[in-house]
Amino acid sequence: MKIRSPIVSVLGHVDHGKTTLLDFIRGSIIAQKEAGGITQHIGATEVPIEVVENIGGEFLKKLGIKETLPGLFFVDTPGHEAFTTLRKRGGALADVAILIVDLNEGFKPQTYEALNILKMYKTPFIVAANKMDKIYGWQTHERAPFLETFPKQPQSVREKLDTGVYELVGILHEEGFESERFDRISNFAKQISIVPISAKTGEGVPELLAMLMGLAQQYLKEQLKIEENAPAKGTILEVKEEVGLGVTIDAVIYDGILKKDDTIAVMTVNDVITTRIRSLLKPNPLEEIREAKKRFKKIDEVVAAAGIKIVAPNIENAMSGSPLRVARDDFEHVKEEILKEIEDIKIDTDELGIVVKADTLGSLEALVNLLRDMKIPIRAADIGDVSRRDVVDASIVKNEDPLYGVIVAFNVKVLPSAAEEIKSSEIKLFSSNIIYQLIEDYDEWIKAAEERKKKAWLDAIIKPAKIRIIPKLIFRNSKPAIAGIEVLSGTVKQDYGLIRGDGARVGKVEGMQDKGKNLKSASKGQKVAMSIKDAIFGKDFDEGDVLYVDIPENHYKILVSELKNKLTEDEFEILNEIVDIKRKENPHWGM
Ligand code: GDP
Repeated sequence: MKIRSPIVSVLGHVDHGKTTLLDFIRGSIIAQKEAGGITQHIGATEVPIEVVENIGGEFLKKLGIKETLPGLFFVDTPGHEAFTTLRKRGGALADVAILIVDLNEGFKPQTYEALNILKMYKTPFIVAANKMDKIYGWQTHERAPFLETFPKQPQSVREKLDTGVYELVGILHEEGFESERFDRISNFAKQISIVPISAKTGEGVPELLAMLMGLAQQYLKEQLKIEENAPAKGTILEVKEEVGLGVTIDAVIYDGILKKDDTIAVMTVNDVITTRIRSLLKPNPLEEIREAKKRFKKIDEVVAAAGIKIVAPNIENAMSGSPLRVARDDFEHVKEEILKEIEDIKIDTDELGIVVKADTLGSLEALVNLLRDMKIPIRAADIGDVSRRDVVDASIVKNEDPLYGVIVAFNVKVLPSAAEEIKSSEIKLFSSNIIYQLIEDYDEWIKAAEERKKKAWLDAIIKPAKIRIIPKLIFRNSKPAIAGIEVLSGTVKQDYGLIRGDGARVGKVEGMQDKGKNLKSASKGQKVAMSIKDAIFGKDFDEGDVLYVDIPENHYKILVSELKNKLTEDEFEILNEIVDIKRKENPHWGM
């Protein structure tokens, strides 16, 4: 048994300083070379405990943390795409996260999205309130701990900083998290730490590293225990072509040992494949990289946590985000395990739901979970480009419920045959490489569509109107009766029923004409010729009669509950007249 370094991911809104922070951390390890060995990884940077101690030692001591972790393992690619791509069974690969927020800008859309993702994966995190050096009047003390630089700032700066921090506390509270500036925390188990930093000057970074260490030590001990001799478990970060090496896999190993002769199993879009490792590479120290060929160094084995490049045959179709497992003699078992991981995502699909496509397992999982949070049913969730088959799937749903007959696609292409099918079947496609954008666009579209649906539904509600049969303008007595009428108030439409003042049914408006033109409706003041189905002149109605639109009881109820303020004063008056007529026959009508 060994304890590995916790894997750390940096998340936050674009331009809030993720890359700058990682660059600073990388830079400071190189600067601190003498203090402890640098551990270079593919796609990751490991800050050894000695360096953390060196940088943040004072504060670590104050926290009373005994250093039992080997270091902090930072994933070099920031952002929630990397975070979600790098998954392991049952959650995120990252053990802890830094949620970075520009102190001067506060929460932005992607900050919320990152927070939701952290919530979803239940990943412990620390908030880095970045760019404190941008506060007007800030006096820089390069690389100084926050607790050293802060007291040296003018009062106005200190106040401004605290206002910014408390705004973050407020937002986090609304999002369900209690938080506090790290040095004022009374209960580490309940409160999220906010560490003010400058990724540019390095101020506050010492405490950020110390707090990460503390968080990992307190809550992640079990999770970080690994069996040093167990077959490796990892996740593919990227599959890419390297000059002189061919296609390679960059992977993060989070458990066990990976050796240069191992057979590994990974996933392709359709299948799980095995392949024998040809070589295992790690980066050469920066100063030795003069030519491309010398970028990597062959090694015999690595123990988790490690970022490693693998050269092996037949890996062209391996997928980023795929689990990677060493298969010793148990390929079938390993294959089953990998497939199970994927099923975790694919299960529970609904007949009537949307089609979801994404580029990696992790992004698919994140997208599916966010959609489920919004209670959106999912018919199919798959990895890969949008195909004709997906469109056909969505069309089937569209016929049943247009709101769900859509495709939501994250970071994938639309194949030409699918594009054609989308056009001809008028399927709505949401496509973006920002998860937040996708969810927001779909949500807006749903709301607009529901609005339209509701409007159409309300439009179909029969509204009150009153007409008069104009004397001496009877064109036909029956089958159908045709008479000249004047609309006294409201709007009368085709298919509306008509009743007399005594409640007797007259017939149904079959059609209306004005100067030879057919009309679907006629409004107050209009005089038109109206044909009334099933009515007989002289029996059902007479010259000069005032007739009302026959409002069904259920329509009346909707009118008064949902459309009251859409009716004109006139219409409201006739509605009351109609109620009086109806209640003569049935005193409880409409109640
Ligand atoms: P990312 O999109 O989150 O990776 O953001 P970057 O790290 O690329 O930073 C965006 C911009 O903000 C760059 O111009 C950085 O130089 C700048 N920046 C980042 N951190 C700080 C900071 O702490 N102070 C100041 N003044 N600028 C910063």
